[in-house]
Amino acid sequence: MRTLIYYGKGMSALTDRLDARPYLVFDGAMGTMLQAAGIEPGGAGELWNVENAEAVEAIHTAYLEAGANIVTTNTFGGSRPRLDMHGAGDRVHELNKAAAQIAKKAAAPFEALVAGDIGPSGELLEPLGLLTPDEAQAIFEEQITGLVEGGIDLILIETMSDLEEVGAAVRASRAVAPELPIVVTLSFDTKLRTMMGVNPAMAVSEIGAMGVDAVGANCGRGPEEMQTILEQMVAVRPEGLLLIGQSNAGLPHLVGDRFEYDAGPSTMAAHAQTLRALGIDIIGGCCGSTPQHIAAMADALASTN
Ligand SMILES: [Zn+2]
Repeated sequence: MRTLIYYGKGMSALTDRLDARPYLVFDGAMGTMLQAAGIEPGGAGELWNVENAEAVEAIHTAYLEAGANIVTTNTFGGSRPRLDMHGAGDRVHELNKAAAQIAKKAAAPFEALVAGDIGPSGELLEPLGLLTPDEAQAIFEEQITGLVEGGIDLILIETMSDLEEVGAAVRASRAVAPELPIVVTLSFDTKLRTMMGVNPAMAVSEIGAMGVDAVGANCGRGPEEMQTILEQMVAVRPEGLLLIGQSNAGLPHLVGDRFEYDAGPSTMAAHAQTLRALGIDIIGGCCGSTPQHIAAMADALASTN
């Protein structure tokens, strides 16, 4: 049994699961899977939650069969400003609720958890942009309300670079669904900083202080950099804070008219074992990671624990 201190919050869906096993496996990419299924790059994948729900459910099921313990709703761009870019800004509630319902339906036979996916709002907060913290919180509350009505088990705030925006999303989560666990990932570039200058140690201390359940990194340039980022996070991790890593499957290369990623399933499997040895609690993939990658990672983790 692990002893975790949860800032007085008590047990959550995540810690319940981690009492039963030493780690959790997250799924891989949704965006690149949707593109493989026929969505145009740059298209609004969230519309498929209503228009092609079977295709979205099939991706969830593939990840669950691969061994994922948590699947992520197809709502990365499901906030009003991002849906506005596709003329669908008035469908936030409908598309997020539908996404959660699809994921819950897929997850039920596997007794897996569903993470409601919250990506960046697509707008910059003050002082670089025009969005106030209250406006950002309202944007996230609208999205989270739909996800919660669809039945999500936890909230994943991902691919973030601005701690102010993370704070707005965390406050929105608490306002709408105070009982749900919160997982936050930032995306770091080659200089091991986010676009807004946050380094891995700052991420752990500042986001950990918000009282979330897990902090980590996603996306980025591939397994080697992810390992370096997470080593820096492990070094400053406070007791009780879970850490998460979701690396891209390496870098994309244009092959013909589509992208291929250069880290195959065996590379990602070795990476998963490395992260586990570092003490990372929740391990998954980001762009370019397929059910084959997640299956190799889940198998590798099972063989070493
Ligand atoms: Zn990614």
